[in-house]
Amino acid sequence: MRKYLFFCLLLAFSACKNGLGLNVFTLQQDKQLGDKLKAEILSNPSKYPVLPYQGNEKAYNYLYAMRDEILKSDKIRYRSQFKWELHIIKDDKTLNAFAAPGGFMCVYTGLIKYLEHADHLAGVLGHEIAHADQRHSTQAMTKAYGLQVVTQVAAGSGGGQLAEIAAGLTQLSFSRGHEKDADEHSVEYLCDTRYASNGAAGFFEKLVANKAAGGTPAFLSTHPSPKNRVKDINDLAKKLRCKTTMADNTGWAQFKASVK
Ligand SMILES: [Zn+2]
Repeated sequence: MRKYLFFCLLLAFSACKNGLGLNVFTLQQDKQLGDKLKAEILSNPSKYPVLPYQGNEKAYNYLYAMRDEILKSDKIRYRSQFKWELHIIKDDKTLNAFAAPGGFMCVYTGLIKYLEHADHLAGVLGHEIAHADQRHSTQAMTKAYGLQVVTQVAAGSGGGQLAEIAAGLTQLSFSRGHEKDADEHSVEYLCDTRYASNGAAGFFEKLVANKAAGGTPAFLSTHPSPKNRVKDINDLAKKLRCKTTMADNTGWAQFKASVK
């Protein structure tokens, strides 16, 4: 163990601490890469029909208030360093959300309309925040595209690969370890908020029920085995003695209605 820690210190691999893989990126590179991916996504409205803030103020204000509530948690390491920018993608058929390095996040209208409680979306947001905050995203991209390509894109060259990486963001598959880690952090973050700490479990429960009914939501292709995850999330909430009662759902129906 000591040898391992020394190795980490020696090479300054920032992700060694959690044992979930190596991350040779600097925080600055995470932010740069996120900015590049954001620009790519916003420049491609046919593929990513992002709802503009103007005209959708109600929806965005609600979502940002939810984000701010989650960012109250001091367990989010980069809560003041990352921008935690949110975008809503108009696609009612896609039950998904994703996060880019540096805290750039997108939520599909399909996910919002699918959920019946604010706490469930807060759980998913917490999960996505964790992917960025724990820097799973850069690790997963490095694994998928290779260090050289991802570094070049973050530095501003390798333009040809940028579109490919941006497109891959929505399909980026994290390891089971990363998924478990994001679920656990979601519980920890929400524990410090007014939301039920196991909010993400509510979403997975609904997915499991839907899958049984024959549906195959997009979230399942990148987020495996939700059944075990419901139990793991609930167990952790209990162990940490975090609140599992739902917050007041006032405003949720109006929020959903405002997402057009
Ligand atoms: Zn995930």
